[in-house]
Amino acid sequence: MDFILASNNQKKLAEMQRILAPLGINVVTAKMLGKELEDVEENGATFEENAAIKARHACKEMHMPAIADDSGLCVDYLDGAPGIYSARFSGGHGNDEANNDLLLEKLIGVPMEQRTAYYVCAICCVFPDGREMTVRGECHGHIGFERDGSEGFGYDPLFIVNGRAFGRYTAEEKDAISHRGNALRALTNELEKQL
Ligand code: IMP
Repeated sequence: MDFILASNNQKKLAEMQRILAPLGINVVTAKMLGKELEDVEENGATFEENAAIKARHACKEMHMPAIADDSGLCVDYLDGAPGIYSARFSGGHGNDEANNDLLLEKLIGVPMEQRTAYYVCAICCVFPDGREMTVRGECHGHIGFERDGSEGFGYDPLFIVNGRAFGRYTAEEKDAISHRGNALRALTNELEKQL
């Protein structure tokens, strides 16, 4: 069964293809089908709502089962910020360097024990017959005092789990414990029940 991914992010595509292939699911992008999927406004109040908005839009436009995710970083000391605004924390969309600088600035003087944070990933699947399924994965850690490592993306150089920044994890090590890995494993369980 083909699922349309509501994103052209090649890393997300490869990860979803790898994890869902054993279930007989082939994940494709609109581009791979020679089509263009316009961006939809992500105006939900939660990760789950934003994932559902994207998946519903892709399903409706492409007339096929659709899958979408929404993810971000929640910092306890900042009352859950940047949360659903993680990509544009510092203003422009997806400026990782500026986002990390701003996060460090907001935590100046905050001791390690108060720097707890967690990544969230919500994934939603929508079927043309109206069925919907949403799962959530989390990964808990701390925000470091300085960047460490060059693996991963986004806030990974600052996000510490088990004494090591995600910036120093290999992709496989990160997959095994990450919010996205956990959400994809939960999705696999749900899909096995549904399909
Ligand atoms: P999106 O779900 O692709 O819109 O990602 C939202 C934003 O959350 C990204 O731009 C990153 O800033 C942050 N983010 C989500 N997942 C991760 C991760 O695994 N590592 C680092 N940053 C992440």
